[in-house]
Amino acid sequence: MLLPMRKKTESAAPVVVIGAGMAGARLAARVPGVTVVGEERHAPYNRVLLADVLAGRYAPDVIALPATEVRRGVRAVRIDRADRLVHCDDGSVLHYGRLVLATGSNPVLPPLRGLGATLPDGVHPFRTLDDALALRTAVRPGARAVVIGGGLLGVSAARALAECGAQVVLAQQGEHLMERQLDPEAAALLRVHLEALGVEVHTECRVRGLRCPGTPPAVRAVQLGDGYELAADLTVLACGVRPRTGLARAAGLDVRKGIVVDDELRTSDPYIHALGDCAEHRSTLYGLAGPALEQADVLAEVLAGRPARYEGTRALTRLTLRSPDPVHALDLAAFGEARPLPGDDVIRLSDATRGAYRTVVLRDGRLAGGVLLGDLGAVAGLARTWQDDEPLPPAMSLLHLLTDDGGH
Ligand SMILES: Cc1cc2nc3c(=O)[nH]c(=O)nc-3n(C[C@H](O)[C@H](O)[C@H](O)COP(=O)(O)OP(=O)(O)OC[C@H]3O[C@@H](n4cnc5c(N)ncnc54)[C@H](O)[C@@H]3O)c2cc1C
Repeated sequence: MLLPMRKKTESAAPVVVIGAGMAGARLAARVPGVTVVGEERHAPYNRVLLADVLAGRYAPDVIALPATEVRRGVRAVRIDRADRLVHCDDGSVLHYGRLVLATGSNPVLPPLRGLGATLPDGVHPFRTLDDALALRTAVRPGARAVVIGGGLLGVSAARALAECGAQVVLAQQGEHLMERQLDPEAAALLRVHLEALGVEVHTECRVRGLRCPGTPPAVRAVQLGDGYELAADLTVLACGVRPRTGLARAAGLDVRKGIVVDDELRTSDPYIHALGDCAEHRSTLYGLAGPALEQADVLAEVLAGRPARYEGTRALTRLTLRSPDPVHALDLAAFGEARPLPGDDVIRLSDATRGAYRTVVLRDGRLAGGVLLGDLGAVAGLARTWQDDEPLPPAMSLLHLLTDDGGH
C-alpha cells in the first residue's frame, strides 16, 4: 500500500511503542511522551540478567530498568495502517503518528515427540521474568533437570540450575558448546567449568522426544536419538529464538526472517519503525542486547527529527557466569568469527594456571574475530580494533594488544 509522505504537522502526532522489553524501554527513556504497550505484567527489566534471578542471586526488582510509563499486561493484537490505529486485547484502541514495533523474539519450540502447543508440566522456556520465576519455584535441590540446547541461553540456564542444587544434564546437538560464538578450544574450557559445577554435558546429542505421562501430562524423561533416556523432573528448552513478526506480517509489512528495516529503522510503511530482536537490518538479525539498545538510541534521534542512521553493530557477546565463590566465576567475550577459514592466521594465548584463554583470527591484515575466556583484561582494546575494522599493527604491537590489560 502506498501512503502519503509525512506532513509537517504530523511530527507531533503520538508515538506508540509495542513491546516494553530492552529496546522499547530504552526508546521510551529517550523519547518523552511515548505510549508503551507491554504484554508482560512486570515493569521493564534487563533480560540479560534473568539467569541471576533464576540462580536466586538477584531479586526481580534489582534487574528493573529505569522507570518507564508502560501499559503493562496489555497485548497489541492488530495494526490498522489505513487509520493508523493499534487495537489491544483489553479493547483499547490507540492512535499513532509513528508506530514502533519492539516485539522481541519468541523461544523456538523444537519439533519433539511429546511436545504440543501447550507445554507439559515441568517443561519450561527461558525468555521472560515469569519463566525464570516459574523455574525457580519448580527447581528443588536434587531435582533432575535437563537443559536442551547448549548455546548462550542453555549454558546460562544450566549453570543457574546447578547453583540451585539441581542435578543438571545439558544436551547439545552440536559438536561443542556455544557454537555461534566459541572455537572448540574455548568451548572445551567452558565445558570443564560447567562440569566442575556438577553439570553433565553431552555434545552431539540429539533429543528425539519427551516422555510425559499422566493427565495433565508431566515430563518424566528426555528421549535421545540413540534410544537412551535421561530422567527429568524438569526440562528447559533453550533451542534458540525466532523474531516475533506476527503483527507486522498480518499488517502487510515486508517481513523476511525479521521485520525488514532501513537505516532509519523504518519498515516498508514510512509511519512504522521496528527495532531490536524483531527487526532485520541489512539482512542481519542480531538477537543481542547491545544492537537493540544502539538501534533504540538511533531511532530516538530519528523520531526527534535529527539526522541519524543505523549502519549495523559489530556485536560483542559477553557472558558473565557469576558466583558467590570467585573460583567458580567465569567471564567470556566473543566477537566476529572465532573459526578460522583456510588462509587465516590465528594467534592464541593460553594460561592453564589461571584458566585464561585468548585467541584472535586475522584475515587480510584485519581482525576477523576472537574469543577471550577467564581474563577479559584485553577485551576493550581488541573490541575497539575490531569495531573500527582498521588494518592491524605489526606483529609485536598485535601481541601487545592481546596481552594488554587495559592498564589495570
Ligand atoms: C535468558 C536470556 C539471557 C540473555 N543473555 C544475553 C547476553 O548475555 N547478552 C546479550 O547481548 N543478549 C542476551 N540475551 C538477548 C537479549 O535479552 C535480547 O537481545 C534483548 O532483550 C532484545 O530486546 P528487545 O526489546 O528487542 O526484545 P525483548 O527484550 O524480548 O522485549 C520484547 C517485549 O515485547 C513484548 N511484546 C511482544 N509482542 C507484544 C505485543 N503484541 N503487545 C505487547 N507487548 C508485546 C514482549 O512480551 C517483550 O516484553 C539474553 C536473552 C535471554 C532470554
